Amino acid sequence: MSTLRFKVVEEAYGRKAVPVAIPSERPNEYYGKYVFNRAQMYKYLDKDTYDALVYAIDNKEPLSRRLADRVAAGMKQWAMDNGARHYSHWFHPLTDGTAEKHDGFIEHDGKGGVVEEFSGKLLVQQEPDASSFPNGGIRNTFEARGYSAWDISSPAFIIDHTLCIPTIFISYTGESLDYKTPLLRALNSVDKAGAAVARYFDENVKHVISYLGWEQEYFLVDKALYAARPDLVMTGRTLMGHESAKNQQLEDHYFGSIPSRVEAFMLDLEIECHKLGIPAKTRHNEVAPNQFEFAPIFEDCNLAVDHNMLLMSLMKKVARKHGFIVLLHEKPFAGINGSGKHCNWSLSTDTGVLLHAPGKTPESTLRFVTFIVETLMGVYRHNGLLKASIMSATNAHRLGANEAPPAIISSFLGKQLSELLDHIEQSDSEDDFIMAGKQGLKMDIPEIPELMIDNTDRNRTSPFAFTGNRFEFRAVGSEANCASAMIALNSAVAEALTDFKARVDALIAQGEDRVKAIVSVLREDITACKPIRFDGNGYSEEWVEEARRRGLDCETSCPVIFDNYLSESSVRMFTSLGVMTRKELEARNEVKWETYTKKIQIEARVMGDLTMNHIIPVATHYQSMLLKNVQSMRAVFPAEKAEKLSSRNMKIIEDIAERTQAIEQGVEELVNARKVANRIADEREKAVAYHDTVVPKMEAIRYHIDKLELCVSDELWTQPKYRELLFIR
Ligand code: ADP
Ligand code: MG
Repeated sequence: MSTLRFKVVEEAYGRKAVPVAIPSERPNEYYGKYVFNRAQMYKYLDKDTYDALVYAIDNKEPLSRRLADRVAAGMKQWAMDNGARHYSHWFHPLTDGTAEKHDGFIEHDGKGGVVEEFSGKLLVQQEPDASSFPNGGIRNTFEARGYSAWDISSPAFIIDHTLCIPTIFISYTGESLDYKTPLLRALNSVDKAGAAVARYFDENVKHVISYLGWEQEYFLVDKALYAARPDLVMTGRTLMGHESAKNQQLEDHYFGSIPSRVEAFMLDLEIECHKLGIPAKTRHNEVAPNQFEFAPIFEDCNLAVDHNMLLMSLMKKVARKHGFIVLLHEKPFAGINGSGKHCNWSLSTDTGVLLHAPGKTPESTLRFVTFIVETLMGVYRHNGLLKASIMSATNAHRLGANEAPPAIISSFLGKQLSELLDHIEQSDSEDDFIMAGKQGLKMDIPEIPELMIDNTDRNRTSPFAFTGNRFEFRAVGSEANCASAMIALNSAVAEALTDFKARVDALIAQGEDRVKAIVSVLREDITACKPIRFDGNGYSEEWVEEARRRGLDCETSCPVIFDNYLSESSVRMFTSLGVMTRKELEARNEVKWETYTKKIQIEARVMGDLTMNHIIPVATHYQSMLLKNVQSMRAVFPAEKAEKLSSRNMKIIEDIAERTQAIEQGVEELVNARKVANRIADEREKAVAYHDTVVPKMEAIRYHIDKLELCVSDELWTQPKYRELLFIR
């Protein structure tokens, strides 16, 4: 083994579990300790301020400057009592992370000393110089200002002695430069559209709330091994590495017992999450070796998105304490499963759930069916956009790879729900629906309530599966900000519900009975959205053909998939709901294409460097050793015997020569492909060129490198191998 590799493997093997400081209190005593939640607000604000703030939060109303000042004073006191010295607006720019700029509380007191200050103005709005965040050309350099503004629906929290205030982030001219702004707008539109429809069934409904419960998958790698892999450090994934003999084929990792070092990390993470009010609940081993999952209890979508962003940065920090590096990349290792972030999504009213298995009354069954069908309508109409919302350079490795959902969006409903929809669609006579006075609709399907409750059907290949009281959007990538998927999904459903209501109201205006009007529009929609329903095997070849016939989006090229954001139907939907303007959509796509190109560019560079600095030198070194051996054979033995004895080494020598040549040529072609692509000015065309000409070259180079890894002496190989990265913990 090369000295470096030997050293890091030894270090990784020797690492022990780090003891976790378990709080002596029970979880409910430290839960939310670092969150300015209602309990803390009540404690730190006077009653009038508290009432006014809670009213503003519940009714989504802006704060007056005076109120903001009073809230800021209480918040500052709370933060300082909990060890904070700085404050920061915390937002989600169009990168995959979060941004924060810390300012101290201190100000000159005019007498040569300092006081700690924090005004309402600083709480509510700030003006970070935003020129270094992706903006897709929205911000000219002379308008480099951006504004961040407090999102009062997501509570402030303290991390590492800094008070973090969740904010939106917009440009000087008012365009959103973040994920939160359009997310809040999408959630508002599904609230409005959903509540209007829900009032058909219960006139007391005020709001419809969108819930999100994400399941975060990730890999852990020992930090010493990680540091010895420049590709992991630079790109988050291994650009090379032969599969190890054993990987996930024995299916022995999923739900297996959790190794003690990992368990210590998980426990530590859970405690930190609870202190930050993240309701961590589920943890288990995933399918691939060293792959795990973390899931909290679901929350209101906006908060859940913030919590996921917070979790991703928190887990990286906590992992380091335990000698691990967290890999959030969707496909860090070839040949084994990648990581996703299933987004469990549901709608609920302020008076009860909407996507729940139908209750005992026909009225609630009809309401349930309405929301299911209109969700399907949204997903059907915008299936291409939904795919675009989860697509990225990194997630592209995972989708369609026979482990994650295929790169075609469809929905699995399970047998019972499918039968129910078919039944409603096919029954052409109104006799099927017996009116039961004011109660509304009575369906002649008495067994439905029981059947639905037992609906535990699973279809792992479906990208958008109904799972009893929610849909599970499974195509979302592990590294992604789930806001992207949630913006598209909630907007699509809001549009479908708005459209549904307009048609029902039109029928009612013509004198149609309310229930009959609803049923007749539902029937139309059940027929219309049928192409999105698919309960079969999403991995099969036939499905791709079938999906194409059904008119579903079957594109697989990531940069081309982004076009969906600018399709006529997407622009119409986003603008009519007020979620995003055309200008914002165009700017965001520029960012998406640019990010795609940059990610592939970085990978291509790292691959070139590693090839020239590690792979070729090691391979030729080994080849020289073999050549020397052959020469010695010839010196010692008669010619014929020497040839015979050296035949194996000769083969390897040739093999190495051919492969190193192929690699060198591949790298040259890779560099040229990049040069050609870099000359393209248009961001979309450039990204397409990277996808079509650069990515395939990298794959070809990798093939030869992985073969070399198998034939070159293990002693010389410098980089930790898969069997070390994935099995040492
Ligand atoms: P599985 O892996 O079997 O799908 P998990 O227990 O890992 O299930 O995760 C399920 C996730 O779904 C959790 O985050 C849970 O809180 C969430 N969830 C449950 N019910 C709902 C709901 N009605 N709406 C949104 N999310 C939900
Ligand atoms: Mg799960």
